[in-house]
Amino acid sequence: MAVEMHAGLASEGGSKLKMLLTYVDNLPSGSEKGTYYALDLGGTYFRVLRVELGGQKSSILDQYVERQPIPEQLMSGRSEELFDFIAESLQQFVEKGNDSEQFSSRKELGFTFSFPVKQTSVSSGILIKWTKGFAIKDMVAKEVAGGLQQALVRKGLNMRVTVLVNDTVGTLALGHYHDADTVAAVIIGTGTNACYWERTDAIIKCQGLLTASGGMVVNMEWGNFWSSHLPRTSYDIELDAESPNSNDQGFEKMISGMYLGDIVRRVILRMSEESDIFGPVSSSLSSPFALTTPSMAAMHEDDSPELTEVARILKGVLEIPDVPLKARKLVVKVCDVVTRRAARLAAAGIVGILKKIGRDGSGGITGGRSRSDIKMRRTVVAVEGSLYTEYTMFREYLHEALHEILGEEISQHVIIKVSEDGSGIGAALLAASHSSRSVDNVQ
Ligand code: BGC
Ligand code: MG
Repeated sequence: MAVEMHAGLASEGGSKLKMLLTYVDNLPSGSEKGTYYALDLGGTYFRVLRVELGGQKSSILDQYVERQPIPEQLMSGRSEELFDFIAESLQQFVEKGNDSEQFSSRKELGFTFSFPVKQTSVSSGILIKWTKGFAIKDMVAKEVAGGLQQALVRKGLNMRVTVLVNDTVGTLALGHYHDADTVAAVIIGTGTNACYWERTDAIIKCQGLLTASGGMVVNMEWGNFWSSHLPRTSYDIELDAESPNSNDQGFEKMISGMYLGDIVRRVILRMSEESDIFGPVSSSLSSPFALTTPSMAAMHEDDSPELTEVARILKGVLEIPDVPLKARKLVVKVCDVVTRRAARLAAAGIVGILKKIGRDGSGGITGGRSRSDIKMRRTVVAVEGSLYTEYTMFREYLHEALHEILGEEISQHVIIKVSEDGSGIGAALLAASHSSRSVDNVQ
């Protein structure tokens, strides 16, 4: 991972890791003030948020978050329909929010758009490709914030898209707002990705890139990481081949919530084809994505002696009735293997970032010193995403692997912190720090 990060920073297209510039060159300081809005699009749920900032000591006076599932037909329709839906939700949210100055002054909006975007500035960028099952063809290679801004105008909303950010970047912003030692952010939800703070002189592909802070957040798009060292199985190969984005997002397909349940389904399907322990192959068992990751987690974490939850899901979701206890235990084992692999890969990815920025205790380029000589700085990684927050076994395996790779001593200094709703709230914070009214921003 660390090697690929170097390659992706060295030249455009130098690695499957895109290492995208974000133009976020300062993170919220805690002095932001006022009311800001955010839209968070890109996972299973769509969120609208309003955040009231107190103006000192990282005080969020109030926050309102509303979430709803994205209607499936919108994920592969026309871009205008998607943007109208978003603008409509925002309008309703604003109207019932009794924001006293809602009509008098123009509001600033942070737009979290969780897909690979080639940014042209902090508030604009072009969609490189879709991931996670989204497939709105007319939006690829188009400017993203402009599409939303037009929909806002159509709805008569007096709002400006102040920042366009990836969800990892929002998460880093909120993490940093509360804890200035936060240097990276990781999302492990429907999809997976990471971003981190990089020195501009290390971004070799952009010679002459200068920022006041000397750094910039880089969106790695690690979901697309690939290496011949990855333990890829026939199930991964088939899942990839049948996906709408084959040969892309290889790391994501082994780690994130969109795919884990389907890997398990494929293993059970094979077992059921090659033996009679699950009876005849049911049609659900043969349908892609019939087993979701939350159902898989529920089976994995079934601690009843008779594994009644496993039996219930096999019957109700996959149409496999009367599975003997021995075979139910086997299903739990399959869930365990698939989750453990995912968590360990994510942990290894995190260590890759730490290595790249010299926070893994190995001494980086200065080398030569023994581990115990190095004074390790406190290092915080902000994390968001349902797989990490809601799947206990996944979380435990990730921590275990981090410990194992970094060792007892170093891992004491590495703190993984959940940043709840960070992707959205962080976008509102960034809208504040990049606001036209912000004093900080007058440079
Ligand atoms: C997208 C990333 C995003 C991640 C987590 C991936 O599929 O490419 O941009 O950060 O999902 O939402
Ligand atoms: Mg999300």
